[in-house]
Amino acid sequence: MKIVVLDGYTLNPGDLVWAGLEKLGQVTVYDRTPKDKIVERVGDATIIYTNKTPLTKELFDQMPHVKFVGVLATGYNVVDTDAAKAKGIVVTNIPTYGTTAVAQFTFALLLEMCHHVWAHHEEVKKGAWTNCPDFCFWNYPLIELADKTMGIIGFGRIGQSVAKIAQALGLKVLAYDNYPNKELENESLKIVDLDTLLANSDVISLHCPLFESTKGIINKNSIAKMKDKVMIINTSRGPLIVEEDLAEALNAEKIGYAAVDVVSTEPIKLDNPLLSAKNCIITPHIAWAPKESRDRLMNIGVDNLVKYLSGNPVNVVNK
Ligand code: NAD
Repeated sequence: MKIVVLDGYTLNPGDLVWAGLEKLGQVTVYDRTPKDKIVERVGDATIIYTNKTPLTKELFDQMPHVKFVGVLATGYNVVDTDAAKAKGIVVTNIPTYGTTAVAQFTFALLLEMCHHVWAHHEEVKKGAWTNCPDFCFWNYPLIELADKTMGIIGFGRIGQSVAKIAQALGLKVLAYDNYPNKELENESLKIVDLDTLLANSDVISLHCPLFESTKGIINKNSIAKMKDKVMIINTSRGPLIVEEDLAEALNAEKIGYAAVDVVSTEPIKLDNPLLSAKNCIITPHIAWAPKESRDRLMNIGVDNLVKYLSGNPVNVVNK
């Protein structure tokens, strides 16, 4: 059985091993694969893995041997799952590996917006504290989170994990999900509609997947419904935000801060309006990537194939 990994580098830049897959078949791992090399590299392999290499209907038409696509990520919007289904190809994802890492990173971004730890450290290194007439100084407004309200859009695994950390910091939580589950409510956590969340949150964090229904969910109209100076965090998928609208609102100081780990086109393009927007922190899609998290991802990716081969596929996203 031939197994091709189309873009293995970000999962395993050298600190993990592919041994689990190698036990199952003849494995070829490419660090990355350009679009025009996909068909040639897949050849007569029946099993392929992708992380961010897009697999379209046109490509599936040219890869008749493929039976199983393992997406090495939670978000599987890179694969045309309907086209795969029509051809009887099973597509799996990795639903849980990154929950704790992404939730933790959400707060790395939020706490950076509240305290600007690195910028203050740099000022100290440059001598600004040494030359300061007072015992302390700060260059940005410092923000305390207790008793503020965090709105969480998409209340699945990551959203719920974020809510727990938020509550530990004393934040109240408003959560919106298109499958609202009132049983998740407690004293400081309420399930609400989107407009209520937008109107009452001091921080808004995105944790819904990228679907047609969620694309551009943060846009001129939704921003107009938000509190002034709101902070926005996106660790989910870039196209959830209309970046031109966010940049405009940041520059107009309607939105206080934004911190995004994902953007509409990755790697980021030089003309992305967020690069020059005021008060915008951008990180290069790293929320998922601590080694502990990638290790889990690798093991679940292998297990998805083991279960598929045993006739009991799990984590199938195109049933
Ligand atoms: P999940 O499936 O457990 O939760 C997603 C939630 O969003 C579900 O409860 C679903 O009902 C809800 N949802 C779907 N459509 C919606 C809509 N129109 N409006 C509101 N809610 C809607 O997924 P998860 O594990 O919590 O992951 C969430 C997303 O995080 C993934 O889809 C992925 O895009 C992203 N992610 C990013 C990274 C990163 O490194 N930055 C890593 C892992 C996951």
